[in-house]
Amino acid sequence: MTSQLRDILEIIEPQTVMEGAGVRLKRSIATPRLDYLDPFLLFDHFGSDNPDDYLAGFPMHPHRGIETVTYMLAGTVHHRDSMGNSGAIGAGDVQWMTAGRGIMHEEMPQPRQGEMAGFQLWVNLPAKLKMTQPRYQEIASDLIPEIDRDEAKIRVIAGTVDGVRGPVTEIAADPTYLDVSIPPNGSFSQPIGRGHSALAYVFEGQGTFGITDEGDGEIVSHPKLVVFGDGDDVRVRATKESVRFLLISGQPLYEPIARHGPFVMNTREEIQQALRDLRNGTFV
Ligand code: FE
Repeated sequence: MTSQLRDILEIIEPQTVMEGAGVRLKRSIATPRLDYLDPFLLFDHFGSDNPDDYLAGFPMHPHRGIETVTYMLAGTVHHRDSMGNSGAIGAGDVQWMTAGRGIMHEEMPQPRQGEMAGFQLWVNLPAKLKMTQPRYQEIASDLIPEIDRDEAKIRVIAGTVDGVRGPVTEIAADPTYLDVSIPPNGSFSQPIGRGHSALAYVFEGQGTFGITDEGDGEIVSHPKLVVFGDGDDVRVRATKESVRFLLISGQPLYEPIARHGPFVMNTREEIQQALRDLRNGTFV
């Protein structure tokens, strides 16, 4: 059987939302257009050179039943959590946090000159892992492999590219998370397991996405989220401009979801339990 290139299912225009204590974000998943792209529950892009847009940050808040993935492009976020961890994630670093049965944490952008930018993705946990022990994987930028193909530069955060495996491992969704830069007129292809949900988030320049054997694809300019149809490979071409995007995929869960802010469980009763635990001081 020949391999099939993935076409475009949808192109999502991010919406501006205020989150946390007053942080301005561009949101593409968890919006009226795209509520859930199983197993991805939320996708936010923060980027501003005005501290008023981000300094209020995300003071102490709980999570249960999900993973939150923060990838920084510029600036620094300090974090502190109920497991006694604290630290800072800066440009090029990633934090893959498995909240499991419960974590309380704060995420506070630090004041600086110039830009603060990055992404947060929420990945759902399967029912059997929703109450797992919380943990996180924090990977400094210099430990993220960077692959130079002739025409593309690929940072491998999770998944495998040209035989090189990213440092984030043992995640239930079996994710791919790549930061891909393609120079003008360059091209890029990557196998993405059939049956996995796949998206590209274009955040610099523009490129042609959804190229297949039958179709020429569509030119997509930043900032946009591209949802791919099923298939074996994703192919992207830069235009006369370069393009930079995240390529993210994961195994869908096909399970019911019950959402309540930072809690995502399978049933309303489990949400009620999370709220009771929070009230009774038994959450963490
Ligand atoms: Fe959080």
